[in-house]
Amino acid sequence: MPQTPGITYRLALGCLIRLGQILSSKEDAGRLLEKVPERSEPLPLRRRGSPRPTGGGAPAANGHWSAINAWLISGDWGSGPAPGRAGRSAGMWRAAVRALRGGGAGAGASRSASGAAAAQLRRRLESELEDIRGAGTWKSERVIASRQGPHLRLADGGAGIINFCANNYLGLSSHPEVIRAAVEALEKFGAGLSSVRFICGTQSIHKDLEEKIARFHQREDAILYASCFDANAGIFEALLTPEDAVLSDELNHASIIDGIRLCKANKYRYKHMDMQDLEAKLKEAQKHRLRLVATDGAFSMDGDIAPLREICQLAQKYDALVFIDECHATGFLGPNGRGTDELLGVMDKVTIINSTLGKALGGAAGGYTTGPKPLIDLLRQRSRPYLFSNSLPPAVVGCASKALDLLMESNAIAQSMAAKTQRFRSKMTTAGFTISGKDHPICPVMLGDARLASVMAEDMLNRGIYVIGFSYPVVPKGKARIRVQISAVHSDEDIDRCVEAFTEVGRKHGALP
Ligand code: PLP
Repeated sequence: MPQTPGITYRLALGCLIRLGQILSSKEDAGRLLEKVPERSEPLPLRRRGSPRPTGGGAPAANGHWSAINAWLISGDWGSGPAPGRAGRSAGMWRAAVRALRGGGAGAGASRSASGAAAAQLRRRLESELEDIRGAGTWKSERVIASRQGPHLRLADGGAGIINFCANNYLGLSSHPEVIRAAVEALEKFGAGLSSVRFICGTQSIHKDLEEKIARFHQREDAILYASCFDANAGIFEALLTPEDAVLSDELNHASIIDGIRLCKANKYRYKHMDMQDLEAKLKEAQKHRLRLVATDGAFSMDGDIAPLREICQLAQKYDALVFIDECHATGFLGPNGRGTDELLGVMDKVTIINSTLGKALGGAAGGYTTGPKPLIDLLRQRSRPYLFSNSLPPAVVGCASKALDLLMESNAIAQSMAAKTQRFRSKMTTAGFTISGKDHPICPVMLGDARLASVMAEDMLNRGIYVIGFSYPVVPKGKARIRVQISAVHSDEDIDRCVEAFTEVGRKHGALP
């Protein structure tokens, strides 16, 4: 409830008005007001019977009320500032109107102002949306009416669509055991915690999952987040100070870029996977206390894998730490699916791993950081997306936990995905297409021309194959492509149908001879 000023306050206000009339000169009134300290924040109004505010002196020290007084004293009660009127009077008028709006003293004014502001905002948003449409970068969302999986039913009636554009690399998103684990966790631990972790949001399943993640990656400890985006947003700010430096691959994921923006460390951006440039930047960064090299393990637009061996060698030479984002590697790269560091034999050289539970590991949601225990302890104290966001829902924890169990029991699923990837890549290359990257289930079919990528993707859907075309600004100009993502649950027949459709569509649109 807004509080009303007390009687003494209103009396003081009346006196001020009267004084203003006596002074009659606006200049005098202005001079008087100069003695009244202004505040940018509204002073809390005094409760009836509570002590008079101290420090501000007169009641007019209240930002709202001093502005209202100023307006009253100025004598411009009806009209507001006339065009061309002296600045002081105009400023007083504006301050008073602002005060009335902000202070709740004029609810009507506030309502009409917000109506105008809302209309202005709507016009601005509509124009921005038009610009996005005009630039051809509008992202539309296809509505799926079935579970995530290799075969989809679309809400607009399309059925039996073969899906080649999910990050469901291991096909665990709809794995029966993963779903059962989610249902069990939901029943046993409820829908959610209604709390952040450090207040009353930590359940035994959260601790179990963190322990399991650390074991999976062979690290000391792990911390869960609502997403890997959050893990990336939280780590740099918590870890690095203005005394430190972070060196980041120019094609790192947006969440790494944003996380780095949030921290106060010195920032260096090296050319994509360019070790000469990284070395030059490392030399430059020697003056800082600590250096952290940050890279995606596997890059999602190209399916290329960071040269971690070389990165780790340089890090050793220039006394730097290595951070990798393993969203497109965890669960399937390397002999046991541990990720890029396992694939390239540098598990003991990478210090920090961030990854997602929202892709290969069940696909529900969630992210994590795993690494040295003191780092994880510090993140629990300092990382803002962890401290100020709700705990991961039990069903989500159940999915990820079961996915990890399945992967730790056997690497059969990961191997199946690798075999399907190999089948697709070699058949497409034989058909005459250029596939970017190497041995990764992200298989970008390089087309160059943006329009070609878009019409071919559309035509693929007409043939029941769901793939997505990417063009500038998501990828560099002239490097438009259709990104195909292979999953362990695609059958050989699915893969072959995809290759056949590409061949037909490619010939039709001139991408193949
Ligand atoms: N890092 C990379 C490389 C990603 O591709 C993504 C998701 O697209 C993220 C981080 C964010 O992961 P999440 O979906 O868990 O927020």
